[in-house]
Parts: sequence; C-alpha cells; structure tokens
Amino acid sequence: MKGIREYIYADNAATTKLDPIALEAMLPFLKDDFGNPSGLYSFSRSAKKALQDAREIIAECIGATSEEIFFTSGGTESDNWALKAVQGERIVTSSVEHHAILNSCNTLKKSGMKIELLPVNICGTVAPDTLAEFVKSGDLVSIMLANNEIGSVNDILALTSVAKGCGVLFHTDAVQAVGHIPIDVRKLGVDMLSASAHKFNGPKGVGILFIRKGVQLGNFIDGGQQEFGHRAGTENVASIVGMATSLRHNCLNMASNTKKLSKMVRDFHDTIIGTISHAVFNGDPMNHLPGHISLSIPGVSGESMFHLLDLRGIAVSTGTACNSLSLEISHVLKAIELSPELSMGTIRISFGVNNSEGDALAVAGEIISIYRKLREK
Ligand code: PLP
Repeated sequence: MKGIREYIYADNAATTKLDPIALEAMLPFLKDDFGNPSGLYSFSRSAKKALQDAREIIAECIGATSEEIFFTSGGTESDNWALKAVQGERIVTSSVEHHAILNSCNTLKKSGMKIELLPVNICGTVAPDTLAEFVKSGDLVSIMLANNEIGSVNDILALTSVAKGCGVLFHTDAVQAVGHIPIDVRKLGVDMLSASAHKFNGPKGVGILFIRKGVQLGNFIDGGQQEFGHRAGTENVASIVGMATSLRHNCLNMASNTKKLSKMVRDFHDTIIGTISHAVFNGDPMNHLPGHISLSIPGVSGESMFHLLDLRGIAVSTGTACNSLSLEISHVLKAIELSPELSMGTIRISFGVNNSEGDALAVAGEIISIYRKLREK
C-alpha cells in the first residue's frame, strides 16, 4: 500500500530479534526432548548433552573454559550474583553502570557494604588513573565493558591491570558487548563477566555469569545441584541452547556485521550533520559499540522525537529516561555532564544485525523531517 513501509526497529540495545537458527536449535527442547537434564534415565541424555555443548560453545566464544560458565536468567541476575555473593568490604563501581549494578549496590549499602561510585570522563569511560586513585585491598571492582546508553567501551585491560596491582577481584557487566565486539576473558583479565542472550539475538530471560576458576563466590540460589551447586533450579534448556547458538552465529559473523554497522553509523552521522550541524553525538568516538548512536539535538525534545518517530514506524529509545516509566534525565547523561538542553534532546538509535543498510538513511531522513516540523512550531 502506498505510503506504508515496514517498521524499522532501531532499538537493538534494548533487545534483539531472535536468530532463526537459534529458534531452530531450541525447538526440539520445547517439544519432544523435554527431559530434565538432571534425570538419570536415558531420556534425559540429550538435554544433559545440550547443556554441556552450550556451555562449551559459550566458553569458546569468550575464551573461558566450560566449568567457568554459569547459566542465569539474564544480565540482571548475573550482575546481582557477582556483587551480592562476594565477601568483600567495599564495591568500587562507576556512576554510569546499569541499574542492575547500581540498585544492587543500593541494597548492599543498606546492609553495611561501602560503595564507591567512580566519576567518568566526558566520553563516559573510567580512566585507569581514577581507579588507581580509589581502589584498595579488600574491594570488589565492577566496571561495565560497554555502556548501554552512549555505547562507550571501557579499556577493561588497563582497568584490570590496576585492580590486579591491588589484588582485588574485577567484575565486568558485558551485557551490551558480548556478541558484538571480540571478548576474551583471559586477555581482558576479568574475574567475572555478565552477559545476556537477548542482546545478541538469543531468547529473553537467559544469560551467563563467567566466574574465573579459583574465584570463591557464594551460591546465589540454594536448592538442587544445578550449576555445580551454585545456582539451583531446573535449567531452561531450550533457551540455553538458543543462547549458545545465537552467540556462536554472531561471533562467526562479527567482522562483517561490524563493517555493515560502522558504515550505517557513518551514513547516519553524515546525513544528520549535513542538515543539523549543531547536533551532538555522545560517547567515545573511537571505542564504541557497533551500530550504537546517542544523538542530542539542542532545542528539540527527545521525548517528542521518540513519539513522532514511533508514529512514523521507527522504534528508537529516548536518552532522557532511565526507563520507559521515568522521564528524568538519565544518570549517564548527567555523569558525562551533558547540558540539560542537550540531555532533553537525546535519543538512542541502535542498529543491529537485522537492519538493512538503507535503514540508516531512512531513520536519519525522518529525524531531519521531524526536526524541521518541531522547529516550525
Ligand atoms: N546490564 C546492561 C549494561 C544492560 O544494558 C542490561 C539491559 O539493558 C542489563 C544489564 C540487564 O540485562 P537483562 O535484561 O538480561 O536482565
């Protein structure tokens, strides 16, 4: 029909479309292969094997060993586990973390844990010198690999080197990064790492916590012997299989995906700046998640832009709101000291593997058209 085109989904930092290959791999475990992986009879063998295979695939994708991979219900649970099960005196984290980290810290604070929130630079990353200034023995450090609002990628290797100098454990929330940029837990030197399947074209409600062999972490959920006795509960076999399949697929295609997404971001940037020359692109211009854009347009309400884009069939996210229920300026934009005017005019556009190259120009064109309309008023 004339005038109607397909919806453009450009909010892949919020969640991604399930990879059809992952769905195919999941189906048998939602249908006939429904055995409990802990079962002792032969019927349970394929579920048990599927779990072990998934553990190995995921381990290989991030440079770990299979016994270091623990299945969880997603990024939020992994972050909670990493922070709440460590016996430490203080948590040193950054002011731009996801609420899964920040609110876990708030809860721990109530029971006496000390929390240190590190400042970030204008790119939203933590300088290794800042960590060196604050960290001391007995701390747990938790600094995100990549930021969900502005896409900046931290220099985790430099940060873990500082942490190692003090002999403290280092956790990273890599929910936005796994499946999108190369990750090797050994090279990065992290002790724990959180990831979530629905951010890399896997199913929702499943994730992992990598726990380096030798790290003593308390059990997170008590019950049966699942997850080596550390996280009880019958495993979500189909979703775990889907997670491993989508991660492997994304990792295999990472180079070509990154190439496509980088071109899209360049096209988008050049088109926007060509008309709205005073627009600002937030985050670290060099160390950035592929396909991730945080755009601030002064004098324009990001919220209006968000709704008008939605009416025109384009899904993005506002940069102002911490979540869809809150319209406060986000803690991340505050932390990078973006002016209130720019903060209020911020939207997040995140392209993913399912976008076509033309989507970048289409979204930029609609933003420019809405910008002109809003300026006329
Ligand atoms: N950490 C970061 C950086 C995220 O972006 C998110 C989700 O947006 C989470 C944690 C929470 O992950 P999940 O939705 O799997 O609970």
